[in-house]
Amino acid sequence: MRVSAPAKINLHLEVLGQRGDGFHGLETVFQTLALSDELEVELTPGGEGITLTCSDSSIPADASNLAWKAAAAVLARRPGSGSVTVRLTKHIPHGAGLGGGSSDAAAVLLALNAQLRTHHSTALTPAELAAIALELGSDVPFFLRGGTAHATGRGEELTALPDLPPTVVTLLMPPVQLPTPAVFRALTADERGPRAARGATWAAALVATPTLLLHNRLTAAAERCCPAVGELLAWLRTQNVPHLMSGSGAACFVLGDVDPPPGIRVWRTTTSPGPQRL
Ligand code: C5P
Repeated sequence: MRVSAPAKINLHLEVLGQRGDGFHGLETVFQTLALSDELEVELTPGGEGITLTCSDSSIPADASNLAWKAAAAVLARRPGSGSVTVRLTKHIPHGAGLGGGSSDAAAVLLALNAQLRTHHSTALTPAELAAIALELGSDVPFFLRGGTAHATGRGEELTALPDLPPTVVTLLMPPVQLPTPAVFRALTADERGPRAARGATWAAALVATPTLLLHNRLTAAAERCCPAVGELLAWLRTQNVPHLMSGSGAACFVLGDVDPPPGIRVWRTTTSPGPQRL
């Protein structure tokens, strides 16, 4: 079964406070993009084990890969359902804040669940899927649906929002990768909150004018971790275009088109409407 795994941007990302479990409470507005990884996911009844191959040799194709972990989590809940083969073709840059690994994991969950159903095994319930997704990572629950969504909690308390007007998105990335935990660790006490969520109704009122949503509380921390992100954002401010860093970086996005400065990788894509999953 072929599935695509879209990238995401965060049109809004606020840190509400530090939690006791090592995570931060967030309020965010997610948006999926047309830029996608592609996966072939096969469940073969009678066999056992997981085989993963990846087009990008810099990404480990082993048990540390979120796509592998997603397959393992499904097999752990439905033992004896067969062997899993995943062929992953990467197009989304990693270490970018674009959710590529999380989206790959969600695509594996959805594809395996569809095949459990057709092989007359017991499919996972929506609640089981949501629980596995959150175990895999804070962004994975969103990718079970995609489109435009408001989220609180770690990112799993989701409310679907009206689709954005179709929008051209230019992704820009300096030649660095930013690990998410390092950016959260670099937050100052003030940046960590506490502060109140504005709520899904507030976000729903603004999606028609998405430039009004643009805010990312992780920006200053990412700039402290990686000066190249600060330099890219300083250049973007001179271009007079609506822009923001996505997630924990290092990719930034422009709503519209822009010609990148030297040394910056660029992807031109569009927002993709939801729900666009299986
Ligand atoms: O959930 P995920 O694996 O994507 O999180 C990676 C890291 O980012 C966490 O270990 C944590 O350090 C940080 N994080 C956080 N609060 C969130 C999401 C992520 O502190 N809501």
